[in-house]
Amino acid sequence: MEREVASAEVELLAELLGGARSAVALTGAGVSVPSGIPDFRSPGTGLWEKVDPMEVAHISVFERDPERFWRYYRPRFQTLGDKRPNAAHAALAELERRGLLAAVITQNIDRLHRAAGSREVVEVHGSIETSSCRECGASFDLERVEALFDGDGVAICAECGGAVKPDVVLFGELLPAAAMARAEELAAAADLMLCVGSSLAVHPVAGLPELTLAGGGRVAIVTQGPTPYDEVAAVRLGGEVDEELTALLAALP
Ligand SMILES: [Zn+2]
Repeated sequence: MEREVASAEVELLAELLGGARSAVALTGAGVSVPSGIPDFRSPGTGLWEKVDPMEVAHISVFERDPERFWRYYRPRFQTLGDKRPNAAHAALAELERRGLLAAVITQNIDRLHRAAGSREVVEVHGSIETSSCRECGASFDLERVEALFDGDGVAICAECGGAVKPDVVLFGELLPAAAMARAEELAAAADLMLCVGSSLAVHPVAGLPELTLAGGGRVAIVTQGPTPYDEVAAVRLGGEVDEELTALLAALP
């Protein structure tokens, strides 16, 4: 069997990665699409077709109309909880194991990077892993949240009866300061930022590659569709993220 010849771009990315002192990945919704999680910013299917997440998964809806919020979010918990990592998640975990990747900064809340074995994961939009009581701070694992719903379908704290909120950043909320500070520190120190499956359109995360560039580092992009960094990227791959990253692994020495 002949080994498939990697594209010149994949070879170049493998070379950059192999020579990088500190490479960091930045991932967005596109990395989870092969796992069956649609990117809601593109016209979607099923759950995402009927409602606008930006309207329902909003902090003001959670506060004013928790029944409506949970009618949307409860099935989303269940849907996301069943999903498995794909070859793109696995490739990033493998790069970290080989010492070629310092960390993954992700906009995703689906836990799939950790499930794939990535250890240094910065979740700038939080994660569905836990939900917390806004009154007493009690924390509940995803598996325990289902038992907290009352007759109206609203999650109520088992300790104090307060409102329980997913530990994810809802629309209308600021990003967690500690996670953003860590992401900025990693981006500034990186000499290569590998952006995967993100349109890099939403700030403040969209500003992270700028920090890498400002420090003299390079930016590589593995994303379908345009990004604001296409012109300055050292490498630009536009195929399916799982196929591109699998080819990248194969192209490494
Ligand atoms: Zn409580």
